[in-house]
Amino acid sequence: MTAIADAHWIKESLSLFASLVEQPPGWRLLTTLKAAGNMQMEAVRSPRLAAMKVDSRLLASGFQVHGSKIQMIRQFSDIPKTRIQGIDGWIARPLPGLSLGIYTADCAPLFLVADNGALMGALHVGWRGLLAGIVQEALRLMTRDFGLAPKEIEAILGSHIGSCCYEVGAEVGGRFSKECMKEREGKNFLDLSDGIGMVLRRWGVQKISKSPWCTKCSDESLFFSYRRGDKGCQMSLAVSLA
Ligand SMILES: [Zn+2]
Repeated sequence: MTAIADAHWIKESLSLFASLVEQPPGWRLLTTLKAAGNMQMEAVRSPRLAAMKVDSRLLASGFQVHGSKIQMIRQFSDIPKTRIQGIDGWIARPLPGLSLGIYTADCAPLFLVADNGALMGALHVGWRGLLAGIVQEALRLMTRDFGLAPKEIEAILGSHIGSCCYEVGAEVGGRFSKECMKEREGKNFLDLSDGIGMVLRRWGVQKISKSPWCTKCSDESLFFSYRRGDKGCQMSLAVSLA
């Protein structure tokens, strides 16, 4: 990759989230672009993280399984040395250099942050994870274990496949409430952000912002999309500025 292309993906990766939402206090949110390459691969990820001044030794990320298991990070010794199998979410206190990484290619990266920045949740949410209850699990941990009130939690939903493109079979669609399903020409489409939003609002989370981009039908150079046939993943990160 040329230096010019490098400059492009770094600049855009850093500005993409910032252009969408107000960055939460104490944290920097970013999503890498397709031009950065497949961030699931260590050989790609390490130099990219270094270029973005993210310390990969203090990166928490998992081999995600579309489940609801969330790992907590309260202190440095809780940060895993390597990627952990079976973890789809993280909840962390701010620690200098810590970052939480979520890999997606159509699923949603969801950040749940205390309005004062004292707690950050980063989740991988697709239809399976949503049904498995990962959003409820994160809210349960943040309110029960850390004493936050739902109205103190802000939700920031990164780019994911939109209801314009997220066709699901009747057996999947039938498991969701009608409010988050759209029907067009006899086909069923899931609105993942509506499904996530319903859970958040039911719990009393009031401040919800979301990316306007669909990973599948936005400019192909922007995001990896599994449904479009891509094999790679972008990475969304919450980096602690503590
Ligand atoms: Zn779309």
